[in-house]
Amino acid sequence: MTTHVLHRNSLIQPPRAVSGEGIYITDENGKRYLDACGGAAVSCLGHSDPEVRAAIIEQVGKLAYAHSGFFSSDPMEELADDLIAHAPAGMERVYFVSGGSEAIEASLKLARQYFLEIGEPDREFVIARRQSYHGNTLGALSVGGNMWRRRQFEPLLINASHVSPCFAYRDQKAGETAEDYGLRVANELEEAILQLGTGRVAAFVAEPVVGATSGAVAAVPGYFKRIREICDRYGVLLILDEVMCGMGRTGTLHAIEQEGISGDLQAIAKGLGAGYQPIGAVLVSDKINKAIASGTGFFQHGHTYQGHATACAAALATQRTIRKRDLLKNVVTQGDNLQKALVGRFGNHPYVGDVRGRGLFRGVEFVADRVTREPFDPSRKIHAKIKKTAFENGLMCYPMGGTIDGQRGDHVLFAPPYIVTEGQIGDIVDLFSKTVDQVFAAEG
Ligand code: PLP
Repeated sequence: MTTHVLHRNSLIQPPRAVSGEGIYITDENGKRYLDACGGAAVSCLGHSDPEVRAAIIEQVGKLAYAHSGFFSSDPMEELADDLIAHAPAGMERVYFVSGGSEAIEASLKLARQYFLEIGEPDREFVIARRQSYHGNTLGALSVGGNMWRRRQFEPLLINASHVSPCFAYRDQKAGETAEDYGLRVANELEEAILQLGTGRVAAFVAEPVVGATSGAVAAVPGYFKRIREICDRYGVLLILDEVMCGMGRTGTLHAIEQEGISGDLQAIAKGLGAGYQPIGAVLVSDKINKAIASGTGFFQHGHTYQGHATACAAALATQRTIRKRDLLKNVVTQGDNLQKALVGRFGNHPYVGDVRGRGLFRGVEFVADRVTREPFDPSRKIHAKIKKTAFENGLMCYPMGGTIDGQRGDHVLFAPPYIVTEGQIGDIVDLFSKTVDQVFAAEG
């Protein structure tokens, strides 16, 4: 194998992607892949969008980059205006970064600095949820509750506590209403705060609709309202991780809109720039902005590429295109179609336990037994086999799970571009169905 790239998997040389058009990517051998997951829920406009391409070319022609320690720029200011104009209630400023992990790191530091600014230095703990993923840099990995990703780096991680996720398919008890279940798991946050000590917890971090680690799992109604109440009661900041589920993916611009609350900090990334440029951001609430502005006035953080002019221009064009073409309507319509088609095809499948999600963010969970919901033995690596077979069939989807403790079951995530058509939804489900048949036929 001749490569000087340290690929994710040193044993496999992935094909070279050479071009993209709409929802398809073509590799060096001319093979075409239907991108039903937008990479990792990134490519929300598909590939080769002409308006975003034109915006990037125009910006590079004027000014590709200017360091944010010296300058602001039109694209940075206009993108911030645009994001705040459409942000959840209470958001006032935007802190730009280059991706999702950086957005979580910045959120954690903003939370810590906020408490220093207001004279509560003892707030040093962060609470998050098990079976969660918030990024791979050390701070973000620390708050994530995915043991498979954490395990070998454990000695390097900062101290974070984990409570149960809100995952009704796995944890709601027989006879328990969804509302009671939501309150029961939300109340674990209160118990954790009391255990760590009131006045000691800085923030709670949660993904409104859990993507990578669980396969499009939305909380039950009322869960996030109760979380908000608990955070308010104990002065804990709520950090929402909308890196994957945000920017239109679930049918509303922000996934949290569907829960009727706002966070204090909200991390966004993937759909922000649709993959045309690497960009992420933190939406910062008025109260945090004011505390810093009227305190030291200086957020003790920073990255070389924050507010990158070309990345901001790409993201602004992405957001304007989504609105101009009314694509969130298509997210809802095609999301419903995808759900119906998946349920139609797999509703009675012996190894499919659940089909779920919101908008164009859908998950299929595989189980060894539909009745008991027993997951497959992780050693069978069902998710990995599905990923490999789907790719051979020309379908990109995002399977995960079945690994080690803290992770339950194999699932596949679908996050196709917002431009997907009804016919293409049919193609996704056909290719996926063929893949599932092949994998389980080979399993015997
Ligand atoms: N948070 C969530 C919910 C994610 O799904 C991801 C990436 O998949 C991240 C954070 C990290 O983002 P990035 O890979 O851009 O650093």
